[in-house]
Amino acid sequence: QPLGTSSSEPSELSLPPSAARHVQVLRLQPGSPLTLFDGSGAEWQAEVLAMGRSEVRVHLQARQLVQRELRQHITLALAMPANDRMDGVVEKATELGGSAIQPLMSERSVLRLSGERAEKKQAHWRGVAIAAAEQCGRTRIPEIGAVQSLASWLAQLGPQPATQRRWLLSPTAAQPLQALAAAQAEASHTLVLSGPEGGLSPAEEEAARAQGFVAVQLGPRILRADTAPLAVLGWLALSEAGCHA
Ligand code: SAM
Repeated sequence: QPLGTSSSEPSELSLPPSAARHVQVLRLQPGSPLTLFDGSGAEWQAEVLAMGRSEVRVHLQARQLVQRELRQHITLALAMPANDRMDGVVEKATELGGSAIQPLMSERSVLRLSGERAEKKQAHWRGVAIAAAEQCGRTRIPEIGAVQSLASWLAQLGPQPATQRRWLLSPTAAQPLQALAAAQAEASHTLVLSGPEGGLSPAEEEAARAQGFVAVQLGPRILRADTAPLAVLGWLALSEAGCHA
């Protein structure tokens, strides 16, 4: 669990409630070793000191910087798929090393969220990302953006930095992913924009192009709204030099 501390001094602390629950579910006892992460790219070796009804105190013993992150920064901006499929996107994107996930609503989106429902979902997805990070040994949790419309997200993007490439996933695009990636190999940040079940409208694709997005196709099959962005992330992640997956 992220601890919210970056101190390098070993110390004692009470775990945040969700981490404390996890320790209780695992039936750890005083003296049990455990590994914690603090959200800053480090892991802590720790030991359970005391277990109360809801409080778990631990002794932080050693902090170790670990490198399990991708070198590149990859943002998946996707029109949210319906039927809880977004949970799977957040989970898999975390495992694959994604840096940020931006849930969007586009013209043809089935799933529409606003107000408190949208905030609850954002918090829920953050929980999914934390659980996935724990499971796969990531020490950084991907940022989960607030649900918003594609139009407002595009409007906020601002000028495209030279180090950033912007890809619009479109089944009818002429350019295949591999060719585009090779042509823009210097980029350190990739923004991947993907549509909903019914696809993006021509006007939305045009608006994305106006913000520097280049249309790219992923082959002759139509991938589901949750599969397409994950396929791109997986391809980029496993193509990183030094990845021996
Ligand atoms: N009938 C829709 C269309 O033609 O756009 C299909 C939408 S698809 C289920 C959901 C999204 O995944 C698309 O909007 C696109 O962003 C992405 N996608 C799916 N298959 C793709 C492919 N072969 N190439 C590029 N993008 C794809």
